[in-house]
Amino acid sequence: MKNLLNSNYKKSQVEIKKIQEDMFNLISELYPICRSITGNGVRQSLDIIKKHIEIEKKEVATGTQVFDWNIPKEWNISNAYIIDPNGKKIIDFKKSNLHVMSYSTPIKKKIELEELKKHIHTIPTQPNIIPYITSYYNENWGFCMSQNQFNELESGEYEICIDSTLKNGSLTYGEYLIKGEIQDEFLLSCYICHPSLCNDNLSGVALLTYLAKYLKNLKPKFSYRFLFIPETIGAITWLNLNEDKIDKIKGGLVATCLGDSGNSTYKKSRRGDSRIDKIVSYVLKHSNSEHSIVDFYPYGSDERQFCSPGFNLPMGSLMRTPYRKFLEYHNSGDNLEFIKKDSLGDSFSKYLESIWMFDKDEKFLNVNPKCEPQLGKRGIYRNTGIVRTDMNTDEIEQRELAIFWIMNFSDGKNSLLDISEKSGIPFDIIVSASSNLYENKLLKQLDDN
Ligand code: ZN
Repeated sequence: MKNLLNSNYKKSQVEIKKIQEDMFNLISELYPICRSITGNGVRQSLDIIKKHIEIEKKEVATGTQVFDWNIPKEWNISNAYIIDPNGKKIIDFKKSNLHVMSYSTPIKKKIELEELKKHIHTIPTQPNIIPYITSYYNENWGFCMSQNQFNELESGEYEICIDSTLKNGSLTYGEYLIKGEIQDEFLLSCYICHPSLCNDNLSGVALLTYLAKYLKNLKPKFSYRFLFIPETIGAITWLNLNEDKIDKIKGGLVATCLGDSGNSTYKKSRRGDSRIDKIVSYVLKHSNSEHSIVDFYPYGSDERQFCSPGFNLPMGSLMRTPYRKFLEYHNSGDNLEFIKKDSLGDSFSKYLESIWMFDKDEKFLNVNPKCEPQLGKRGIYRNTGIVRTDMNTDEIEQRELAIFWIMNFSDGKNSLLDISEKSGIPFDIIVSASSNLYENKLLKQLDDN
C-alpha cells in the first residue's frame, strides 16, 4: 500500500512528447546496426541501451542445450557486395544490411547470373522493396534486392562476396531487474535480433528501455524484469536458465510492433483471464480510441514460448498492428518513416497505465462485514465536514460512492479492478478511496498472489 509508484502516473502531454522523441532517437541510433540472433550487432545494441539502464549482458555458449534446442553458432558479418559484369557495384551491404540473408555463410567468387539468381530473394508483389530473409538453422547464403533491380540484371559473370563468419561463440542477451517491495515479478520482454527494421523489433526495444528508465526511479510493489533477447531461441534460452524463477512471474507483456500508425491490439495470454488480460482490456476500453482484443494463438512472437503449455505464463502482448498484418512487415518499408512518434508515445502511455494498474490492483477484506461501518465518526464521509477542495463535485460524489462499493465488495473475491468494473467508477478513484479506508483500518490486505 505504501509503494511509491504514485497515482500521478498519467504523464502530462509535455512529458509524453519528450519521451516519444527520446524513443525515436534511440530507434534511429539502433537502426543501422546489423543484428541477428547472435553476434556483435546484439552486443553493440545492448551497449547503446546500457547508456540508459544498467542492463546485465549475458552470454550462453554455442552448443548449450536449451530444452529441445541448441545454441547455434555465432554469426558476424563485416561486408558484402555484388559487382555486375560491367564492374559496377550493384549491391552493397554497407548501404542496407537487409541485402544479405541473415546467417549467410561466407562466400567470395565469380558466378554466372543463372546460378546467382537461385540465391536472390525479392518480393514480386512489392517491386520496390528489399525483403528481410533469414536462414538460421540451415547453412546457406543469399542476397535480397528489389524485384525491379532483379528484373534489370544482365546476363554474364558476377563477382559476389559475403564476408561473414559462422563459428562457435555465444548467444548474447540483456536483462534488467528493478527490485520492488516484493519478489513477485512482472516480466517485460522484447527481441533484439532484427537488423534495420523499426516497428518489428526496435519499437519494442525503445519502449522497454524508456519504461525501465522511468520505473527505476520509483519504488514499485512488484519487481519488474526486462528482457532484451533474440526472438524464439532467446526466450527458450532464458526460460531454460531461469526455470526456478517462473513461479514468481505474476504477469507480463511481450513488447512488439508499437510504432506504426494503426490502432492498439492486445493479444491475451493463453490463460485468457489473467490479471494482466483484465487490466490491458480495461486500459484499452477506457482509452477512447479504436482497438482490438484478440485471444491467444500459438504463433507470433515470444508469447509462443512464455505461453507454451509447460509454462503457461500470464503474459499477453500489447502492440499496434500485429506482425504479418502490415505491408511493411519484414521488409525495407519498416523504416524510420514508417514509425510515428505519436504512436510510440501512445503505446508508452498504455504500457505505463497497465503497469500502474497491475501494481495497484489488489484484494482487500472488509473487517466490518456485518452491516456498514459508521463512516461519519471516522471522518471519512463528506457530511462530517471533510470536503476536499482539490476535487470537483463529481469526484467527491464518485469517491463517496466508491467507499460503499469497496466496503461491500471487499469480500476476498473481488479486486479493486473488479470493483471499478462493477461500479463504473474510475480505477484511480477506487484506489485512492481504498487507501483512505485502509488507513482507517476498515480494510485488511489480502495476499492473493
Ligand atoms: Zn520479425
